[in-house]
Amino acid sequence: MNTARLHQRFLLCSGANTDTRKIKQGSMYFALKGENFDGNLFAADALAAGARYVVVDDKLVAESSEQYILVKNVLESLQKLALFHRNYLGIPILAITGSNGKTTTKELINAVLSRKFKTIATHGNLNNHIGVPLTLLSMDQQTEFGIVEMGANHPLEIAFLCTIANPDYGYITNFGKAHLEGFGSLEGVVKAKTELYHYLQEETKLIFLNLDDEVQQKHRNYKHTFAFGENPESEVQVKYLDGEKYAGVHYNQTDFISKLTGNYNGRNMAAALCIGLYFKVPFDEIEKAIAAYSPDNNRSEMIEAGSNTIILDAYNANPTSMQAALQNFTSLKTDKQKIAILGDMFELGSSAPVEHQTIITDAENGNLTEIYLLGDNFNLTETSSSFTFKFKSMEALKNHLEETNFNNCYFLIKGSRGMALERVLENIPAEK
Ligand code: ATP
Ligand code: MG
Repeated sequence: MNTARLHQRFLLCSGANTDTRKIKQGSMYFALKGENFDGNLFAADALAAGARYVVVDDKLVAESSEQYILVKNVLESLQKLALFHRNYLGIPILAITGSNGKTTTKELINAVLSRKFKTIATHGNLNNHIGVPLTLLSMDQQTEFGIVEMGANHPLEIAFLCTIANPDYGYITNFGKAHLEGFGSLEGVVKAKTELYHYLQEETKLIFLNLDDEVQQKHRNYKHTFAFGENPESEVQVKYLDGEKYAGVHYNQTDFISKLTGNYNGRNMAAALCIGLYFKVPFDEIEKAIAAYSPDNNRSEMIEAGSNTIILDAYNANPTSMQAALQNFTSLKTDKQKIAILGDMFELGSSAPVEHQTIITDAENGNLTEIYLLGDNFNLTETSSSFTFKFKSMEALKNHLEETNFNNCYFLIKGSRGMALERVLENIPAEK
């Protein structure tokens, strides 16, 4: 079936779906194949659960009912349909990529733009070759603005996602040392992320830039740019309120204060402010949207536990976000003792030893009271201070926390997702 006809049927549906356990009544089910499953085998379940159509690519399951739509390749059909639907709706689409801060920035931008437009933004972290099409297919005729997060761990993925989403606007949060296994080097990261800029070279398209970022500065000569930063050449010239408990930005005689920790979130907020101003969201609405946004996951959460304060940043880690978190932590103005609990950073390939060593060497030069390390890579680093402690297991770390009396301490907890460092939270009670 061609894409135009598939789209006619899609318009009769309540949305797209790839999981029979979450079927929405009247939706179109796409039978995707994964490593361990074949969605074709669940097509009948999808219909029983209320799907209106099932899109399959296995002749053996396709029954001669009009509810079965047989295609050559379900994933390709899903992606082509998403592009067709996006062009059919004809609404502006803003794509966000970068090494760190995509989801936070996407949510801040969504908070701001939704004060003026009926927006649809990527749900959670659905930012890959399946998530992007599903995000586009969740938009409908009421939607006025789409915000799409794009993730990548290999070259040409962003270019490919652009051919599905056909964005009009783009923003890259930063270029950092993430997914080095797939990108090879920082230059590889820059090349891969800037695929978004290349896509946005046309006359009608525009890129938002952070002019304090060296790589982004180099793209100022693009046809259409709109920039923010402390750099005086920015259209939206801001001043960052760094070192405070919550990230903040000063612009136009106004302090924008968030509920987010971390200086880097000041940059994410400024991006949302800049984009809000570009699309003429009323100034006071932008301020309110940024002030009201609070993260609902493990990203940079601030937890008060009696006399102790905890920055829980255990959602993920790579060298750039780890450096950013530590830099923020050391710059915090506080009389509390600072204790960093750091877990291994994954997906670094052969750079893992040197990247972990750099983090430790820098951390030991900061003004921290103690550093606790967990994970195979951190355990292999050379430490030179008497206040750095290596733990061989999560249990050993938990026991140490349990047995120690912490008062008036500030904790930073950060590591890769696989380390699940949030598990130590229960061992830092409010008071002992
Ligand atoms: P993912 O690759 O998992 O989708 P993401 O790019 O969506 O990640 P977020 O989930 O928003 O990023 O944030 C993850 C972490 O990245 C934060 O907790 C913080 O430590 C760090 N971070 C956020 N923004 C920045 C930034 N602008 N620069 C550097 N690090 C940042
Ligand atoms: Mg994300």
